[in-house]
Amino acid sequence: MEPRTRRLAWVEALVRWPHPDLTPHPATGAPGLLPPDEFIPLAEQTGLIGPLTRWVLDAALRQVGAWERAGLSLGVEVNLSAWDLHDPGLPAAIAEWLAAHGVAPARLRLELTEGTLMADAARSLAVLSRIAAMGVRLAVDDFGTGYSSLAYLKRLPVDELKIDKSFDSAMATDAADAAIVASTIGLGHSLGLRVTAEGVEDHATWERLAALGCDLAQGYYIGRPLPPDELGPWLDASPWTVAPSSLGAPP
Ligand code: MN
Repeated sequence: MEPRTRRLAWVEALVRWPHPDLTPHPATGAPGLLPPDEFIPLAEQTGLIGPLTRWVLDAALRQVGAWERAGLSLGVEVNLSAWDLHDPGLPAAIAEWLAAHGVAPARLRLELTEGTLMADAARSLAVLSRIAAMGVRLAVDDFGTGYSSLAYLKRLPVDELKIDKSFDSAMATDAADAAIVASTIGLGHSLGLRVTAEGVEDHATWERLAALGCDLAQGYYIGRPLPPDELGPWLDASPWTVAPSSLGAPP
């Protein structure tokens, strides 16, 4: 969401596991949802994160293509894991899904944490350069919680910093967190990057981010995670707007 315009431009794909062993939803009877922190680490340990990331990318791009054809023009952000940088077929697979679902590359942004980017910097640069050359965007996720080499960050083809929610959620009450957020927005803009605040939960934080010139915000203040088919009805009932449909990249 853009604080300046109150316009929804991007969504982040978040995976949930409807699990048969969990208590179903009391009203709808839908299966209970296993949160990602209970299965993503297992998927990473077993290598199943590779097929899982591929499934999420395919599903997310299919959904964005369907929304576009329904007149809802959005980009989607998908989280990658360190394992995914070792998947040599991933760039070609992404190109195939973009084409199959009729989605412009600039409408996909892949998110990588500082730890993932810096763990194997040479490999990150090689793989991400191939993906960026296709026109797909790249973001540093949870920025401020890991170790980024600024010299290296400058060389990576990223175009967005996502400020970790621990700073944003406390910035309205904690002067140090507010200073970190303000200086990260300044750093990002000086490097020509877009800056997103994660974990925005209240109006005071939203207003401060808008005043600081933060490009995008996400978090419970704007909306809670929801299934894709509920996005349209949620948007209709919300104070937010969407960009008019266009085939270019959302801002
Ligand atoms: Mn993320």
